[in-house]
Amino acid sequence: MATLIDGKRISQEIKDELKEKAASLKAEGKEACLAVILVGEDPASKVYVGNKKKACEYIGIRSESYELPESTSQAELLELIERLNADAKVNGILVQLPVPKHIDEKAVIRSISPAKDVDGFHPENVGALLIGEKGFVSCTPAGVIELLKRSGISIEGKECVVIGRSNIVGKPMGVLLLRENGTVTICHSRTQDLKNVCKRADILVAAVGKPKMINREYIKEGAVVIDVGIHRMENGKLCGDVDFDDVEDMVSAITPVPGGVGPMTIAMLMKNCMESVEES
Ligand code: NDP
Repeated sequence: MATLIDGKRISQEIKDELKEKAASLKAEGKEACLAVILVGEDPASKVYVGNKKKACEYIGIRSESYELPESTSQAELLELIERLNADAKVNGILVQLPVPKHIDEKAVIRSISPAKDVDGFHPENVGALLIGEKGFVSCTPAGVIELLKRSGISIEGKECVVIGRSNIVGKPMGVLLLRENGTVTICHSRTQDLKNVCKRADILVAAVGKPKMINREYIKEGAVVIDVGIHRMENGKLCGDVDFDDVEDMVSAITPVPGGVGPMTIAMLMKNCMESVEES
């Protein structure tokens, strides 16, 4: 029987630890503050922003919300970020992505002070991760490492295969697994013989963005499978990049969708926010 890696429970555990930390920082007169910026009316983004604000409230992090119209110019957005960079009361700045098409996402990411970049997307933080220096780490892959550690799954010396090489998931995921002494392979759309590469994995992380693509043909008996994907199916239910029902009987542990990696992303964002106030 596969062990279900319970991201809901583990993320709650982390949020409760952070709540305690926030209370003790408050007693020292310190308070974390996250500025959340949303440009436009994207319904999914609104839900994500709402969830982040709720998590802040639960933990005791003050959140400042900036909901800007779709017509906001890049200059106006950068001006707001500049103001928040200079505001000593704000520890973390988050711009909900994607931004509208007329705004250059890279310019936005670069404009956030690396010391307040709690999403871990700024090139300075990405570089720090690569060379093993301190910095903010992208929340989803950081959440995957935390899930593995808190489930007692050791990474050291294991064959780790990541499917996907995006800047926010696949690449930092590979680096983090390497940092934990895994032997890492990163796959992408040009990888040859993907099934056999995946079959080598003791730990397989699917961040491919294709609903239920990863079936038992990609899995070694007894592997640990982490499913980062999240998709809404026609019947309204959510599914991941992994065909859960097809692989469940052959894996040793697996994350469900929903309730696996998803809740960890917000928990790790909150962790980054708390770290930003501890550092200040
Ligand atoms: P991207 O679309 O940016 O990246 C997908 C990656 O998969 C690319 O590197 C691409 O390769 C690779 N890929 C696509 N098709 C294939 C294929 N047939 N074979 C091998 N590799 C392939 O996605 P993200 O990294 O942003 O997200 C991945 C998934 O994770 C999505 O389902 C997303 O919704 C989910 N997600 C979930 C989060 C959470 O909190 N749970 C947070 C972020 C993302 P190439 O580079 O060659 O194009």
